[in-house]
Amino acid sequence: MVANKNIRKFREGLRGRLFLPGDQGYDNARKVFNGMIDKRPALIVRCAGVADVMAAVNFARETQLLVAVRGGGHGVVGNAVCDDGLVIDLSRMKSVRVDPGNRTARAEGGATWGDFDHETQAFGLATTGGIVPSTGIAGLTLGGGIGYLNRKYGLTCDNLLSADVVTADGLLLKASAEENEDLFWGLRGGSGNFGVVTSFEYRIHRVGPVLAGEIVYSLDHAKEVLRFYRDWSTAAPEEVRADATLLSGSDGPALAVIVCYCGAVEEGERVLRPLRSFGSPIVDTVAPVPYATVQNLLTEVFQPGLLHYWKAGFLRAFSDDAIEAIVDFFAGAVTAPFAAIAIEHLGGAVSRVAPQDTAFSHRDAQHSLLVLRMWQDLADSEDNLDWARKCYRTIAPFLESGVYVNYLGDEGEAGVRAAYGANYERLAAIKNKYDPTNFFRMNQNIKPV
Ligand SMILES: Cc1cc2nc3c(=O)[nH]c(=O)nc-3n(C[C@H](O)[C@H](O)[C@H](O)COP(=O)(O)OP(=O)(O)OC[C@H]3O[C@@H](n4cnc5c(N)ncnc54)[C@H](O)[C@@H]3O)c2cc1C
Repeated sequence: MVANKNIRKFREGLRGRLFLPGDQGYDNARKVFNGMIDKRPALIVRCAGVADVMAAVNFARETQLLVAVRGGGHGVVGNAVCDDGLVIDLSRMKSVRVDPGNRTARAEGGATWGDFDHETQAFGLATTGGIVPSTGIAGLTLGGGIGYLNRKYGLTCDNLLSADVVTADGLLLKASAEENEDLFWGLRGGSGNFGVVTSFEYRIHRVGPVLAGEIVYSLDHAKEVLRFYRDWSTAAPEEVRADATLLSGSDGPALAVIVCYCGAVEEGERVLRPLRSFGSPIVDTVAPVPYATVQNLLTEVFQPGLLHYWKAGFLRAFSDDAIEAIVDFFAGAVTAPFAAIAIEHLGGAVSRVAPQDTAFSHRDAQHSLLVLRMWQDLADSEDNLDWARKCYRTIAPFLESGVYVNYLGDEGEAGVRAAYGANYERLAAIKNKYDPTNFFRMNQNIKPV
C-alpha cells in the first residue's frame, strides 16, 4: 500500500499521466495486445519523457513497488503489465528523428514499427524491424529483432548504435560501443533486464521498392512445396527473406510463402522465379511495392485484443521427417478460427555475427519456427491451448533447445536460460552490475547472483 500523499506528490511531479484503478482510462491503459492478459496494476504512469521515467523508477524503488515496463505492449507473455505494481508506460513517447545524411534514426522507447517506418521511409530508408506495424521497437530490439530485412542487414539489435537507459538507481546512462560497452552488449538480446530504454539510435539503410508479396498453395501440396522451399531458401541470396506458413484462416487451410526481396527489382525477379514457378500456386501477389506495403501485409490478421498463445523454437533439423510431421499434424487438426505454423527465414547477415558478439546467441539457426494460435472467446481457451501444445510436442524433436526470447512463454528458469543460451553467465554478470536487486524482473528474467 502506498500512502495517498506520496501518490499525490508523485502525480504532481509528472509531465505525463498517472492512472489508478477507477480512473477514467485505467482499464484501457492496462490492456496489452494479447487479450489473454488481464492484470490490475496499482498505478500506471504514462510517461511524457525521460524525467517522468526517472521519477517513476525512483518512486517505485522508494515505495518498494514491483515494476513493469511497457513499450508497444506486444509481448505475448504479458510482462509489460503487472498485478499490484507500477507500470512504466512509454506508449506516448513515440518521436522518431531521422538523419538521412548520416543514415541514422533515433526513436523513443514507445514508438512502434509503424511509427518508425513511417518516418524513415519518407527518406527511402529503413532498418530491420517487426513485420506487424503495431509491435513496439523497444521489446523487439532488446530481444534481438527479426524481420524482412534480417538476412541483408542483420537483426534489429545488430543495427543498434546506442541507447539511453534509465537504470534501477534512477540515473540516465548512454550505452554504445564507446560508453558502458558491457551494458550495450547486454541490450542486444538480453531483453528488458537492465533498465528502461528511453530511446534507441539505429543505423538505417536505403530500402525500397522491394519485390514482395504472398504465394499461396493448397494444403494438399504443402509437403512438396515445403521441401522445395527448404532447399531454395537455404541457398537464396541475402536480399531474400521468405517465410513459409501453414495457416487456417477464414478462407480455409493453406500454405502461404511471404517473400521480400530488398535488392534491385530486375535481379529479384530472376531470383524469385524458381519459387514462383514451382507447383501450382493458387495466389501470387508478388510485385514491386513500397517497403511499407510489405510491412503492412499482416496488419488485418493481427488485430489487438484477440487471445494469443505461442510456442516456438529454432529448427535444428529441417528434414523430410520434420516436414511430414508438421504438415500431418496441421492437416489432421486444423480448427477455426486461426492457427498457424510459421517458418521464418534467418541466416545471411544474422549468421555473420558471432554468437558472443551480442547477447543474442542463436546465430547459426537458418529457420525459426512459431506455433501460433489466436481466438476470440476466453471460454474457448482450453481447446486452443491444447491444440498449440500438442502441435509443439509433435514438432519439438526437430527443434533446438533454445527459443528466441521474444517468442518465449512463461516457461520457468530452464526456458529462460536456454533462450539466452551460452551468453547467460555473461548476462548475469551485467545484471549484477546494473541491477543487483533485480528491480527489473517483469521480463524473461536473468537473476543477479
Ligand atoms: C503480432 C506480433 C508480431 C510480432 N512480430 C515480430 C517480428 O516480426 N519480429 C520479432 O522479432 N518479434 C516479433 N514479435 C515479438 C516481439 O518482438 C515481442 O512481442 C516484443 O516484446 C514486442 O515489443 P513491445 O515493446 O511491443 O512489447 P512490450 O510488451 O511492451 O514489452 C515486452 C517486454 O520488453 C521489455 N521492454 C519493453 N519496452 C521496454 C523499454 N523501453 N525499456 C526496457 N525494457 C522494455 C519489458 O521487459 C517488457 O516486458 C511479434 C509479436 C506480436 C504480438
